[in-house]
Amino acid sequence: MRLDRRLLRSLRRAVRLAVYAAEDAEEVGLARIVVEEADLDYATALAVVEAVKELRELFPHKSESWFLRAAVRSLGVREVRGNVWVVPGFPELGDYYSEYVVRFSGGKYSCDCFARSYGYVRSARICTHVAAVMVYRRARRRLSAWLGDLY
Ligand SMILES: [Zn+2]
Repeated sequence: MRLDRRLLRSLRRAVRLAVYAAEDAEEVGLARIVVEEADLDYATALAVVEAVKELRELFPHKSESWFLRAAVRSLGVREVRGNVWVVPGFPELGDYYSEYVVRFSGGKYSCDCFARSYGYVRSARICTHVAAVMVYRRARRRLSAWLGDLY
């Protein structure tokens, strides 16, 4: 996935609006910003913006940068098998590795960045790689619901 300054800048704008705009903020308008300024399709942008808004309800105390990093990484998430995802790492976002593996098991997410950074699995903490998977799954669910509506 290409991560250029333009995509980062427009995603940052969309995430800032999604995270901090008033409750009646227009998701469609936010998605349009991303689409016009970056090389993303409209439905994906709308689904990601809505997913970030939903995540904000779950994590009201996380910072704007946390949501931004989750949104950007969510665009490159790949599901490698059931409940296992590979999340791309970006040096621009402070990642040391080029990919991270996130697992969902026993009702909990875990990420291999915990083990890499601290030498043990610390699954209680939600890192932005886990958040990226949460955005990805929520966005995917929306996209398939919308596509389902077409038939
Ligand atoms: Zn992680």
